Amino acid sequence: MALSNSQYQEIMRGYQAQQLKDKHEQDRRIREVYERLPAVRELDQAVSTCAVLRAKELLNGDKEALKRLREEIGDLREQKRFLLASKGYPADFMEMHYRCPDCEDTGYMADGKKCHCFLQAQIKYLYAQSNLESVLQRENFDTFSYQYFDDQQIEPAVGMTVAGYMRQVYRWCKGFADEFGEKGGNLLFTGATGRGKTFLTNCIAKELIDHYHSVIYLSAHDLFEVFSKYRFESRSEEELKDTYQFILECELLIIDDLGTELNNSFTSSQLFFCMNQRLLASRSTIISTNLSLDRLRDEYTDRVASRIISNYTVIPLYGGDMRLKL
Ligand SMILES: [Zn+2]
Repeated sequence: MALSNSQYQEIMRGYQAQQLKDKHEQDRRIREVYERLPAVRELDQAVSTCAVLRAKELLNGDKEALKRLREEIGDLREQKRFLLASKGYPADFMEMHYRCPDCEDTGYMADGKKCHCFLQAQIKYLYAQSNLESVLQRENFDTFSYQYFDDQQIEPAVGMTVAGYMRQVYRWCKGFADEFGEKGGNLLFTGATGRGKTFLTNCIAKELIDHYHSVIYLSAHDLFEVFSKYRFESRSEEELKDTYQFILECELLIIDDLGTELNNSFTSSQLFFCMNQRLLASRSTIISTNLSLDRLRDEYTDRVASRIISNYTVIPLYGGDMRLKL
């Protein structure tokens, strides 16, 4: 369960590459501005000159030097903002722009703890999710196709064809992803194998990961394995503790294929605990399962079913096995 040294190094190399990219892009933005607005370069030079002069005065015992410096720099910055705006640039255009502003692409927070983006990378390694990216390249909102769904026969449960119904489901899911930052929410996809549950969760996952939300994608089997190791291994490794905590805290937890794992009273109570903790913390969860709500109640207790009924949007999926039509 622990990250190997080479995996750790690979994650850190990713951060170093990202920092170089951030710097490179900042340099490019600065060059662009200096070309279009030479006066900005002069203002930047004036800031440096000013700082050097005032530092000398300060060393010579001039106590007012620092105050003057602040005023002068404030003034120069104001002029710079004004010039940038004149060409439509935002005030922070020449600053560093980070992929993860929380850790400034270092992987670690100011207090020395691993950032959520590091934990996400770590889980990718620990749970063979390194292929997730290529799966998400194939399965996303842009590649979603209705051709595998029947557009002739009316599906009695929804009063329309399965293809028509899937258009609605697509819009719900797209809406869920688009409004995730403001609204959050929880989804339960139910339906037999091959109805598109995993494809739809992948669509949502890709959209959110692209917008830098912290997303964990685990099969129910892997999820319960983490819980079980955390609970029963007396000396849990640091990565395991991190992973456990991140499962409870990440912005979106996707539990794929609930009901296919070996189920017992431990998994039931852990599932309830995890769902409940996440609801209390207003963190979103998506569950996909081939069990009906009644079966979920039988397999995982009333408490789990009642949390789902009151807090989840249940999306049943119909039709034939689309994998057979691929
Ligand atoms: Zn980060």
